[in-house]
Amino acid sequence: MSSGLEDGIAPGRDAVLPAPHKFEKRLQTSSPVHRKPAIMQEPVLVLNATFEPINVTAVRRAMVLLLKGVAQAEETNPTEVHATSRTMKVPSVIRLLAYRHIPQQTRALSRKNILLRDRNTCQFCGNIFPTAELTLDHVVPRSRGGRSSWENLVACCYQCNNRKGDRTPEEAGIKLARRPRPFTLYTSRQLMRLLGYRDDKWRKYLFY
Ligand SMILES: [Zn+2]
Repeated sequence: MSSGLEDGIAPGRDAVLPAPHKFEKRLQTSSPVHRKPAIMQEPVLVLNATFEPINVTAVRRAMVLLLKGVAQAEETNPTEVHATSRTMKVPSVIRLLAYRHIPQQTRALSRKNILLRDRNTCQFCGNIFPTAELTLDHVVPRSRGGRSSWENLVACCYQCNNRKGDRTPEEAGIKLARRPRPFTLYTSRQLMRLLGYRDDKWRKYLFY
């Protein structure tokens, strides 16, 4: 089992939560649910038993947790879906009924996670790019002993990457938008807030 928040931000895999189970299969095969695939992928905020925001998951996954009795809905949307034998309001915020210890771990160093931390923003020109148009830049080049670490890798567009070449930002006369930081629980919460702007119901749990 991997660490808790590692995959939690992007709806999909979330190791912090119990493994998908039979309810998920039932949700998948239930035709009224099937007709609304878009809503099933909407993000849902997951709170610990203590109301602390710990994760973001997809509606489908959140509904599995509700059906399993592992979590309860704290906020719902007006939309209803049919799950197993009952009709449920689509959850917006759910809360785990049993407290889960979230270890103070950091995210695995990967291209995906660096781009997530930097919000797909080139850290030199400040423009936002699709994932395919970004690369990773070693702030201190590898040829100068720069390491592949959270503190030395940033999202970078190809144009800035070419401009910078095998030089430090100072040598290339370009500035870093901000100092790269390791991915911590703090960063996760920042991302949850970012996602939370789209849903008013998340606000009271994230902005305090
Ligand atoms: Zn750039």
